[in-house]
Formats: sequence, structure tokens, C-alpha cells
Amino acid sequence: MQQPVMKDKFGRRLQDLRISVTDRCNFRCRYCMPREIFGKDFAFLPKDHLLSFEEIERLAKVFLQIGIKKIRITGGEPLLRRELTALIERLANLDGLEDIGLTTNGVLLGKEAKRLKQAGLKRVNVSLDALDDETFMAINDSAMRTKPVVDSIKQAKEAGLEVKVNMVVKKGMNDHEVLPMANFFKDLGVTLRFIEFMDVGQSNGWDFKHVVTKKEMFEKISHVHELEPVDPAYIGEVAKRYRYKGTNTEVGFITSVSESFCSTCTRARIAADGHFFTCLFASEGLNLKDILRNGATDKELYQTIANCWRKRDDRYSDERTEETVKNRQKIEMSYIGG
Ligand code: SAM
Ligand code: SF4
Ligand code: SF4
Repeated sequence: MQQPVMKDKFGRRLQDLRISVTDRCNFRCRYCMPREIFGKDFAFLPKDHLLSFEEIERLAKVFLQIGIKKIRITGGEPLLRRELTALIERLANLDGLEDIGLTTNGVLLGKEAKRLKQAGLKRVNVSLDALDDETFMAINDSAMRTKPVVDSIKQAKEAGLEVKVNMVVKKGMNDHEVLPMANFFKDLGVTLRFIEFMDVGQSNGWDFKHVVTKKEMFEKISHVHELEPVDPAYIGEVAKRYRYKGTNTEVGFITSVSESFCSTCTRARIAADGHFFTCLFASEGLNLKDILRNGATDKELYQTIANCWRKRDDRYSDERTEETVKNRQKIEMSYIGG
């Protein structure tokens, strides 16, 4: 049955769904899960609070009716979830889904890449914030060197997955790695996307002065490489894309702070415990797990989600000020799913 197009208060459609499958991680990135807070006493979600694969599949079908075209699996570290390939296989086979991707820190990706590809995964975004071991280890705070992640990137490419690398850039943390990363991934023929450090969650001590803007990074790279703009592939594409002149290799910038893109934001998120969030900077979500487990029909789920989206007026990044940064209670990135 053809459903009406679902739009929020600002006329934005729901097209892109991120599903977090765990709030746990094998890293403790200083800007995401600082060890002082996410230490051994931290209360992660108990297993029965996580959505099962059956529940995720059922929700995905309802979201497809609402109009989503893309799903991205994330976390925490999604490859820590047992038998993740089985979930990918279920989702990849759903009617109407055009694209399915995964965001990972890459540590466990290499040995899973072939199976993930066979299960129907199309693309993978691997997070890597530095090439230099010392910088990388200071960020991930888990004694992980860069080589296993770089090897995973190569293995994922060999397995036929479309690979992009994401680098969060924070002043004084890894801004000296912008050019070495650009050079390395240009030579490898892999798209690298620089992400401006964001004030997600309550625990990363964010401040405007930590942000390295797209303009600063662009200038640094342009001194060495000529960049030409690439048109967005679709409305709502988050990265500002460029190509290294004379190559097919791209570089992108996710300018959440310096040039926010709320007006075209078509994304929503489901946390690992089934809470539905219409903005990365939300304070609260809709508990879809309870609605599901209390016996809602697909039609009731559809109506509840549709009503929530119709009421959506989120535009946090457009309105970001010192006040909102300080006062808004925000969900942690590792829980909501990046
Ligand atoms: N663990 C996986 C990973 O690191 O790719 C998936 C989840 S992680 C929360 C998703 C993405 O969010 C990563 O690329 C990470 O670097 C990014 N991220 C986390 N905290 C961030 C922040 N404060 N600002 C910008 N990006 C952030
Ligand atoms: Fe884990 Fe990803 Fe957060 Fe790093 S950014 S702590 S890898 S969830
Ligand atoms: Fe979308 Fe919220 Fe980010 Fe704006 S701040 S782009 S509404 S997730």
C-alpha cells in the first residue's frame, strides 16, 4: 500500500535511519566514552533491554513503510554485537531498502568484512582519528595501534565494500594529523571525511575553542592538493564533498558546527534499547521497545512513529549557543548511535 509522504514541521522527510545495536565499545575515545565515566562500574544496558534482531527487523519494516530508504548500523561498537551479520542479512533483504551501511572503529572489521559483504552490506564507514600510533592511542585510550584499523580498511575494500574513513578533528588532539591523513587516504584511493568535533552528550567537555572548522582544514589541505567541488548525490547529504584534481578520490567535511545542515536533516536514530530519537542532540526519546513489547500492531507502530515525526521541530545545530551547549541535557553518542 502506498503511504502518504511523511514530513516534519519544517517539511523534512524521514529517509535515513541509524540503528544502534549496542551501547558497549572496545575503545574509550576521550571525546566519546571517557574512561572516568565509562569505567568498569558503568551500568551498560542489560541484554534483555537490547532490541532483538526480530524486533529490529520488525521496526525496520514499519520505517520502510514510512519512507526510509537507508539504514546505517552503529553503536557503541556494532561489531561487538554477536552474529551481527545475521542482522545485516535480515535487513538487506527487506523490500524497498536501497542502502545499508555500518559505522565501526574497524578493529573487528577485517576478519568480518567478507561475511558482511556476503550478507548484503553495501558500505562501511571506518572511524580513524590519526595515523600516528601515539596520537591514536591517546585518543582511543585502549592501547590500540593504527595498523589493525588500516589493515581492516584494506580488507573491507578487497571484500568489495564501499569504504569511507571518518576522522573527528579536535584542536590540540589530532589537528596535526589532518594533512598526513589526507595524503595517506588520497594515495589509497579511499574517501576521507573530516568531522568537526561536536557537543554530543554530557561527558566530553566540549567547547567552541576545540572545534577545527572546515575552513581551517580546507585551507591546510589546499596548500598541498588542488580540490574541486563535487555536487551532493542527494538532498540531505551531510558531507561537503571535494575531489583531488586529476583523481577519482574524494575528501569530505562534515560541518555540523561551522555550517550546520538542520534544514535538510532527514535522519532519525534508534538507540540500542529501542528509544527513537529525532535529533542527535535530543534530551529524550520515544520508547519503541515498550510499545513493541506491549503488543502494538504494525499499524499502531506506524501511527506512533508518524505522529512523532510530524511533530518534529529539531534544529539544534542551527541554534547552537554557549547557553544551549551548557544547559541542554543531551544523550551520549555511544548510546544514541553516531
Ligand atoms: N564505534 C563506532 C565508531 O567509532 O565508528 C560507531 C559509533 S561512533 C559513536 C560513530 C561516530 O561518531 C564515529 O565516527 C565517532 O568518531 C563519531 N563521534 C563520536 N563522538 C563525537 C563527537 N563528540 N563529535 C563528532 N563526532 C563524534
Ligand atoms: Fe567507541 Fe566509536 Fe565512541 Fe570511540 S567513537 S568510544 S569507538 S563508540
Ligand atoms: Fe539533524 Fe539535529 Fe543534527 Fe540538526 S542538530 S542536523 S536536526 S540531528
